[in-house]
Amino acid sequence: MDNCIFCKIANKEIPGKIIYEDDICVAFLDLSQTTNGHTLVIPKKHFKNFLEVDNDTLAHMIKVTKDIANKIVTKLNANGVNILTNANEVAGQTVMHFHLHIIPRYDNNDQIEINFSDRSNEVNLDSLFNQIME
Ligand code: AMP
Ligand code: ZN
Repeated sequence: MDNCIFCKIANKEIPGKIIYEDDICVAFLDLSQTTNGHTLVIPKKHFKNFLEVDNDTLAHMIKVTKDIANKIVTKLNANGVNILTNANEVAGQTVMHFHLHIIPRYDNNDQIEINFSDRSNEVNLDSLFNQIME
């Protein structure tokens, strides 16, 4: 897609530190390096995000992501990893070409904080359940 920075990385029109590539996807180091080894896995074909990516492409990418995550954890001596994807601006998506983040974790004080706040006393689970299931 014209003017998409990740299409340009996939097409080698702009440089990226590509650590894996096959016919369907590419993985390269994220410029921001939230933690050491922070990597993005993208499809070569343009899809906007997780909500829109083709199922076969996604299935392939998730297997590749597992292999790369294991490699990075081993090579960089990480203790764990977060696999994340942001869909649409409200969720923090800034580049509108689907990507999976691989964020190696080293300790509790590394440069990323993911908090799931507990709102269980504010919400009605039955009504949410019914809204989803109806
Ligand atoms: P998101 O906020 O989920 O859309 O993530 C976009 C990510 O792309 C951010 O972590 C950026 O640091 C990263 N990024 C943007 N441009 C580049 C680039 N040219 N090469 C590598 N990473 C990039
Ligand atoms: Zn694109």
